[in-house]
Amino acid sequence: MVKLFGYLFIITSFFSFALCLGGEESVLRQPNEKAPLRFSADSTFKITLFADLHYGEAAWLDWGPEQDRNSSRVLSAVLDSEIPDFVIYLGDVITANNLPVPNASMYWDQAISPTRNRGIPWATLFGNHDDAQFEWPPEWFSASGIPQVSCPPADFSFSGEECYFGGTPRVELMKMEIEKNKLSYSASGPKELWPSVSNYILRVLSAKDGASPVVFLYFLDSGGGSYPEVISRAQVDWFNHKSKAINPDESVPEVIFWHIPSTAYEKIAPRPRSAIQRPCVGSLNEESVAPQEAEWGIIDIFTKRSSAKALFVGHNHGLDWCCPYEKLWLCFARHSGYGGYGTWPRGARIIEMTEHPFSLKSWIRMEDNTVHSEVTLSS
Ligand SMILES: [Zn+2]
Repeated sequence: MVKLFGYLFIITSFFSFALCLGGEESVLRQPNEKAPLRFSADSTFKITLFADLHYGEAAWLDWGPEQDRNSSRVLSAVLDSEIPDFVIYLGDVITANNLPVPNASMYWDQAISPTRNRGIPWATLFGNHDDAQFEWPPEWFSASGIPQVSCPPADFSFSGEECYFGGTPRVELMKMEIEKNKLSYSASGPKELWPSVSNYILRVLSAKDGASPVVFLYFLDSGGGSYPEVISRAQVDWFNHKSKAINPDESVPEVIFWHIPSTAYEKIAPRPRSAIQRPCVGSLNEESVAPQEAEWGIIDIFTKRSSAKALFVGHNHGLDWCCPYEKLWLCFARHSGYGGYGTWPRGARIIEMTEHPFSLKSWIRMEDNTVHSEVTLSS
């Protein structure tokens, strides 16, 4: 009997090993046609985080398209000042619950075009507004009626008769981005994590030393929109399995990105509307943390890995601080878009890493070109 279990163990171990190898390529997204991400010759790798752009909001009113133009101006200004190696769109790229078009990719494309036009590679992940259901504005049923809304160009649409209001599912948004853009490093994660989609890993290689990774970038989908705002137990297991497989001795630093803060952010948050004091660093503390609906252990896993250095989220437009949480740093990005709630000045969080020795610094670049809140997160 013991022997039989032994054989079974060997057989199942073999199959899980084979599955593990098979799944590796689809998740560790370094497709052949794309150059691997690599540190620059000066041994730095700089990332700009654009959070909460909310393109396509109130598209039928004058102020909607106007705020999209303003957001594009912010993106262009920050990109021209910082000239990053890579850009991360940290969710709520669009406001799908306001889109009077059949296909949200048109607005998604507007949001990534300032980065694409400059030839900078990027990655995206989903927030709670990107695939939200269209919400019919009550005023459309008053005397003014439903505004004349034209269907988007054929490239993004179906035929005119099929034009309807509503967003686009996560999988479709991701598929269209990847198919249309050679510079996109985004990926649809493993199907077993569905309905969660933007789960993937990128490695950034050394400037000189061929194939050795200097840092792993983890992207997770924190839900919201078409399903609950949560990082599921399945995602926790996926992270646990993948990180142990590709970084077993924890020698390569890991930096993690998703949209909605975990409940851990609430534990370390400075009291809302009070001054941000050391060890926290930041300039905006105007609201309470709006965390995910449940916590299934992802933060506990990070705190046990010495390689997990920092986590970056968006979602709270009125917060831009970084605070330590055990050995990890928990950071908010900076509201970059004119869409979405709040009128605080717009900007973007910048991350700069160096190799030999590894260091991770961050600061915030504002639309008016000023810089503040510089902090060293790992050295
Ligand atoms: Zn938002």
